[in-house]
Amino acid sequence: MNKIADVIIIGGGLAGCEAAWQLLRRGHTVHLFEMKPQKFSPAHKMKHLAELVCSNSLKSNSPDSAPGLLKDEMRRLHSLILSVADQTAVAAGSALAVDRIEFARKVEAELLQQNNFTLSRMEITEIPSGALTIIATGPLTSDALAQFIHALLDGSYLYFYDAIAPIVEADSINMDKVYWASRYDKGTPDYLNCPLSEKEYKRFRQELLAGEKVAAKSFEEVKHFEGCLPVEIMAARGEDTLAFGPMKPVGLINPYTGAMPYAVVQLRRENSSGSLFNLVGFQTKLTWPEQERIFRLIPGLENAQFARMGSIHRNTYINSPSLLQPSLQMKMDPNIFFAGQITGVEGYMESTAMGLWAGLNAASVLEGKQLQPPPVTTAIGALLHYITSPGSAKNFQPMNINFGILEHLPVKRMKKREKHILYVKRALQDMSIWTRSQDLSA
Ligand SMILES: Cc1cc2nc3c(=O)[nH]c(=O)nc-3n(C[C@H](O)[C@H](O)[C@H](O)COP(=O)(O)OP(=O)(O)OC[C@H]3O[C@@H](n4cnc5c(N)ncnc54)[C@H](O)[C@@H]3O)c2cc1C
Repeated sequence: MNKIADVIIIGGGLAGCEAAWQLLRRGHTVHLFEMKPQKFSPAHKMKHLAELVCSNSLKSNSPDSAPGLLKDEMRRLHSLILSVADQTAVAAGSALAVDRIEFARKVEAELLQQNNFTLSRMEITEIPSGALTIIATGPLTSDALAQFIHALLDGSYLYFYDAIAPIVEADSINMDKVYWASRYDKGTPDYLNCPLSEKEYKRFRQELLAGEKVAAKSFEEVKHFEGCLPVEIMAARGEDTLAFGPMKPVGLINPYTGAMPYAVVQLRRENSSGSLFNLVGFQTKLTWPEQERIFRLIPGLENAQFARMGSIHRNTYINSPSLLQPSLQMKMDPNIFFAGQITGVEGYMESTAMGLWAGLNAASVLEGKQLQPPPVTTAIGALLHYITSPGSAKNFQPMNINFGILEHLPVKRMKKREKHILYVKRALQDMSIWTRSQDLSA
């Protein structure tokens, strides 16, 4: 392809617009391709760029929350999306919510004002070869481009649905009720087991059946794969389907009683520091409040704090840990960057942050420089580490920002809020050092 700009960006959503901005403010030329209004995904409705497809809330703005920290870091890196969100904010307590029409209009106007920016309203169905390209087509990437990417990846590493199990914070688990064990004592005892008596199991199943579920959107009518059925669907198949499935107790003797429990819920480490555990096999369409209520019936999880709730929904994302470098360039072709939700992060701000980082890295390539990723003690660094460290490749599932993915802070038992304040303090200090060392302060 003849060179039409320094960088081509496919997809004018949150990540694509942020990536464009980071390049433009460094003086590079950008050609952005957005398929709207020629073609709309099943969730997009507006003709403007940077559309918020669902809620108008960008989550907490509170400085001692993980989403608030992510926002502060992005402000320090001159994020366009954050700056426009701040300008178009509507009253929403401690959350940052925006007037979605004003927000989208303003992001688009800011980009169109730049002389080095070109916008073409058309669907791209193939990744151009030989050009520096950022793919930011989001969770509802058009079918033709998704097929192209699927073929590029030899038919693997591209997923079309999330089946996410909830994640709990390790220090909220009651360790006096659960026990480490591997089935039949084979291998290392890597799983934490929450034992249930017959009575507890039956009550738990009843609650799963009765619990309120999220209705699927029209484009989300999923034909469930047998391997990742929602836990409540399995519960509905028969009284003991779960007890013979993900809650199978055989070979998991309870050391407190010396007997095999009626059923177990197994918890598996989610990160190498062991600060987070996921409930194995508990992907679900229960609403978030119902998940909290019902999963707290599991012995040991009475006071569980959830870092991420379970879900099952339509989502196009790649296996970034296998495919991407920390710069978000493809290992097999460094001319191609991925950005936004398609990299395996989840959420408006998380997607924007990955657009920001892809834009900075594309600019660095053009300038003959190489950026070091932000430290894992920061929110952006932690997200990046989660999606690009090879250790996450197996069972890779999208992740939103939470303190559990930041480098573990060894602190004695203290109140959650105090601990979060320490995480934020460390993150912002490290962010300042990092931005100076990478020449990104201005
Ligand atoms: C239905 C739904 C609801 C969601 N609700 C929330 C929520 O409430 N809160 C939250 O934090 N997150 C939510 N998310 C998750 C996610 O944060 C958002 O989808 C977010 O907008 C992702 O940002 P992005 O830039 O990666 O993709 P998008 O914002 O979706 O942008 C991708 C852009 O690429 C364009 N495009 C796609 N294919 C092509 C192509 N082939 N050629 C050219 N252009 C193309 C699209 O039209 C779109 O404008 C939701 C996701 C979905 C699917």
